[in-house]
This record gives sequence, structure tokens and C-alpha cells, in this order.
Amino acid sequence: MQIDILTLFPRMLEGFLSESMLGRAQERGLVQIAVHDLRQWGMGKWQITDDRPFGGGAGMLLRPEPLAAAIDDLKRGAGCKTIYLSPDGEPFKQAMAVELSKEPHLILVSGHYEGIDERIRLSRIDMEISIGDYVLTNGTLPAAVLTDAVTRQIPGVLGAEKSLTQDSFHNTLLGFPQYTRPFDFEGMRVPEVLLSGNHKEIEEWRVARALEKTRDRRPDLLSEQESEQ
Ligand code: SAM
Repeated sequence: MQIDILTLFPRMLEGFLSESMLGRAQERGLVQIAVHDLRQWGMGKWQITDDRPFGGGAGMLLRPEPLAAAIDDLKRGAGCKTIYLSPDGEPFKQAMAVELSKEPHLILVSGHYEGIDERIRLSRIDMEISIGDYVLTNGTLPAAVLTDAVTRQIPGVLGAEKSLTQDSFHNTLLGFPQYTRPFDFEGMRVPEVLLSGNHKEIEEWRVARALEKTRDRRPDLLSEQESEQ
């Protein structure tokens, strides 16, 4: 899979992309991630990428020409999805990460200032995604969040594929509580069932705890599941 990230702040991603799972996934050739400075496609001697919005109002907007040129250069054929990260996009969910991990090529467009010219959204963007109901200064971190969530769904990236099925949101449940050594920490003991070696009982305990936690913290996930059935 190829992921191209288009941003005005490529250096924000240097450490993030080279560390941990994302670093290893690239070394092992499971995903190719390239970060592109939008200014490369900037206009004129000053490589301008922004301008004032028509109609007035606060802030600046990213101009359409540099974005169009960049996206057109990065696009290779039809098997490519171009995503704009935006607070007014579709809320990002685990199921979307799973679906997007099956795509051969993603271009992630990060906005800045007040966002991007509407005509780019209409002509070049296939999907708009929000990472939450809050506003960040630019789309680089949202692009990083999406890259991480999508990459860990690519087969082979995590090593132990089972951990994907233990994650929160798998089967619309939050994750169950986990324990490691020591057995007794400040008087709090690991639940006996986890030491029993009885896999069926352990599984039942985990599902029950996950259900409990989901009912308590995110009952909306359970009603979503019921309405889908
Ligand atoms: N004026 C825009 C609005 O109200 O929808 C906000 C623009 S924001 C200050 C600048 C850029 O940050 C956006 O173009 C987008 O790329 C990114 N951004 C900010 N919050 C985001 C979020 N919650 N999800 C995804 N992208 C976000």
C-alpha cells in the first residue's frame, strides 16, 4: 500500500513515521509512506500556497492551484483515494480504518488556516474525514492519526494479528482489562480466572468485562450494533 501525505509541515511527521510499528512496517515493505511539502507546488518565486477568502472574514485559505497540481502529480491511475482531513468530514471510525487498509493508494490532504478552497473539495477529493469534534491548527496530525490506524490493519504489520481482534471497537465493544506481572501490585491482585489456564472461562470473563465497560462508558456503541442487526 502507498500513502502520500500532503502538508505544509512535513517535519512534524519525521519522528512519528520512523518510530515503532510504522517505521518497521515501512522497513519490511508492507507500506510505503511519503510526505510531500505542498510548498513544492507553490506559486511563483515565493511558492505561495494561500490567499484571503472571497467575501472577507478571518484567516487565509489554501489556494486551489497548488493543491490541484500536487494531487494530480501524486495520483497514479484510478486505484487511488484522495482524502481531505477536515473537522466537518465524516467522523473517523475503526471500521473505516479497516476498509481503507484494503486500498492500494491513499493521498491524505492536510489543510491549514481556514482550510482549502471549496473547488478542490468538489474536483479532487473522494472522501472527507474528521478525527473528532474539535479544531486543530492544521491537518498534519489528523493525517498521522489516519495513517497509524490504517497501517496497523495491514496484514503482517502487528505481527500478532490476534491483537487486532482484542482491540477496542472490534465487534463494537471496548477492550477488556489486561494484567501483567506482578501478580500483586499495591494489594491489587490479578483476577484468578486469568491464571486458571481455562481458555473458555478466560474468554467468557473478557467478553463480560468488555460488555460491562462498553455499557458503562459507550452505550451508544451497543445501540449502534442493535440498529445494524
Ligand atoms: N475553518 C475550518 C472549519 O471550521 O471547519 C477549520 C480549519 S482548521 C483551523 C485547519 C485545518 O486543520 C483543516 O483544514 C483540516 O485539515 C485540519 N483539521 C483541524 N481539525 C481537524 C479535525 N478535527 N479532523 C480533521 N482535520 C482537522
